Amino acid sequence: MISAVSDKTTDAGAMPKITVVGGGLAGLAAAVAAADGGAQVTLYERAPRLGGATWSFQRNGRWYDNGQHVFMRCCAEYRAFLDRLGVAHHVAEQPRLSVPVMRPGRRPARLSRTGAPAPLHLARSLLRYSPLSLADRLRAVRTALALRRLDPDDSDTDETSFGGWLRFRGETDQAIAGLWDLICLPTVNLRADDASLSLAARVFRTGLLDDADSADLGWARVPLSALHGDAAAAVITAQGGSIRLQAQVEAVGHGPSLAAGGQRMDAGAVILAVPHDVVGDLVPPDTVARQSELADLGISPILNVHFVFDRQIMDVPFTAALDSPVQFVFDRTEAAHWAGGKPSGANNGDEQVVAVSQSAAFDEIGDRPAEIIERYRSALADLFPLSAEAELLDAVVTREHRATFAGRPGTRRLRPGPTTAIDGLFLAGAWTDTGWPATMEGAVRSGTQAARLALDHCRGAGARAPELQDQSERTIA
Ligand SMILES: Cc1cc2nc3c(=O)[nH]c(=O)nc-3n(C[C@H](O)[C@H](O)[C@H](O)COP(=O)(O)OP(=O)(O)OC[C@H]3O[C@@H](n4cnc5c(N)ncnc54)[C@H](O)[C@@H]3O)c2cc1C
Repeated sequence: MISAVSDKTTDAGAMPKITVVGGGLAGLAAAVAAADGGAQVTLYERAPRLGGATWSFQRNGRWYDNGQHVFMRCCAEYRAFLDRLGVAHHVAEQPRLSVPVMRPGRRPARLSRTGAPAPLHLARSLLRYSPLSLADRLRAVRTALALRRLDPDDSDTDETSFGGWLRFRGETDQAIAGLWDLICLPTVNLRADDASLSLAARVFRTGLLDDADSADLGWARVPLSALHGDAAAAVITAQGGSIRLQAQVEAVGHGPSLAAGGQRMDAGAVILAVPHDVVGDLVPPDTVARQSELADLGISPILNVHFVFDRQIMDVPFTAALDSPVQFVFDRTEAAHWAGGKPSGANNGDEQVVAVSQSAAFDEIGDRPAEIIERYRSALADLFPLSAEAELLDAVVTREHRATFAGRPGTRRLRPGPTTAIDGLFLAGAWTDTGWPATMEGAVRSGTQAARLALDHCRGAGARAPELQDQSERTIA
């Protein structure tokens, strides 16, 4: 039996009531922006915690993230969100892009920028990039300039594979593995051969080629849950908003209204910020553009292997790797020892906590944890000889089978915008049509945009004639 609760204040002058479904970054950004815009916000999250795809857990007294997250300086809305939450001081940001690239038994190479204006800022590094032959380096410079001329919003560009386009331009397998995949894998969560040229062009243009400082990298110095979920909860509740955890929404429908825990609730506006493969189960047919094709957005997994060594094995904050199963490895010691209000600075002796991060881990996500740990312990020993002598104090594997949608060629047309066929129902999520791959930036952008539309809707509805408001009070379809 479903009882009805009205949560739909739209009288002129009254506080608009906005309900957000989903407490990932998109939902949190939407809830914060809606509260900042004067709405009374209620957020429903089916998990026992906020943060969605960005979360942390404790084990043997140390913090671990579900997976390493990195952002670039060009992620303007994500960085503004951190500012709004008052946690910007909890991230590290490079003054200038610098990515060490390790190979077993070889001197490390480096991808970095100079202080020169774009696109010259990368030229010196590309021309000196030792994993590539001289011919490949010269070709890479020409290819980078050609990427800069591509329009990421062009639908033909989206139908093309990045790898196919690179090969057409004469890029070799070595150049694709040693340079282009190094950037495509962690940003699009696919290898270049599988990725949409449009999404790759967005990353390379916005991130690397259009402005000199765009690709300077940043990462959390504290657990992701502290950075996102906890901080956003404090901001939302301080403004009178309410957060319901372990509250799975069962349906969203006309009104707009939603059903959760056996109750039906009306709202001034609803922002649905759940993953793409969940939306179709919650809304009536044809609510979202191409609703029946949303599953075609696919999924791409990410695997992280966290090691605790009794001593320092690497002396850089992170590195990429080539000629190794390792894609990237990060020093997570500071975040692992987070002590609440501030980094404790304390270390359990001289231990070092590192996270190996593997994007598009289709081939190994199903392997047994013990096998995965052994594989990467041995790979780390090849890259960092000190780790071969170090004692392993702990190791844990985190697997995100459905980490992101798969940004394959042709996915752009499957990504809906924020509006739906239901008046007052808006969509948010990294998978919606942000133009970005599935990133924290895309999630936050979509959330703030949905909040703006929801606030406009409530204000418009407040000014509407009473009979029109009555007509919108329908039940869940
Ligand atoms: C391991 C890993 C590494 C990553 N690395 C990076 C990186 O380095 N840089 C980067 O920018 N991005 C990275 N990403 C991607 C980024 O985390 C995501 O794109 C972003 O966080 C997605 O946010 P979202 O709010 O759109 O979706 P989600 O985080 O998936 O949030 C959706 C929320 O909806 C909730 N929900 C679902 N159904 C219901 C229901 N019926 N009722 C109530 N709640 C419901 C879910 O529980 C979830 O909390 C990574 C992702 C993973 C998993």
